[in-house]
Amino acid sequence: MDPNCIFCKIIAGDIPCYKLYEDGRVLAFLDVGPLSEGHVLVIPKAHAVQLGEMADEVAAAIGAVLPRLARAVSAATGTGAYNILQNNGEVAGQVVMHVHFHLIPKPDPTRAPDSKSPGSPGSGLGIHWPAGQIDPEAAETLADKITSALG
Ligand code: AMP
Ligand code: ZN
Repeated sequence: MDPNCIFCKIIAGDIPCYKLYEDGRVLAFLDVGPLSEGHVLVIPKAHAVQLGEMADEVAAAIGAVLPRLARAVSAATGTGAYNILQNNGEVAGQVVMHVHFHLIPKPDPTRAPDSKSPGSPGSGLGIHWPAGQIDPEAAETLADKITSALG
């Protein structure tokens, strides 16, 4: 519990939320600034800033509930597509410094291509994907480096 953390305050019940799911390790609630209808946040109850700080059992608990929530959100919103987003660090777009997974329904834009308001078809996560081309030699070195770091 970090007394200055807004998500810890939600977990403690000091700030209200639209609660969807709770167990001993995980809480899920609606994002108050949704990119689309049904935008959900899934968080560990144990305060951690970045993904890599989470204990394995906490990560496993989140992983176990994400598919269930995805099915429930899809059923409730009638959308079959969604993005899971998890920002780590300010430069990566993290604003709230308590680990959270975004579950963001992606309505089919072909149904109402002009509408971009939250919850309407055409809303959801916009993706900029500036892909490069992997260099085979550098990739070997990098793969070795990462596998060594994995231990
Ligand atoms: P990120 O940029 O990944 O840190 O996303 C933080 C998210 O938390 C944003 O989508 C906010 O809309 C959401 N958020 C911030 N405060 C609250 C709150 N009190 N209840 C629900 N969602 C919140
Ligand atoms: Zn926190």
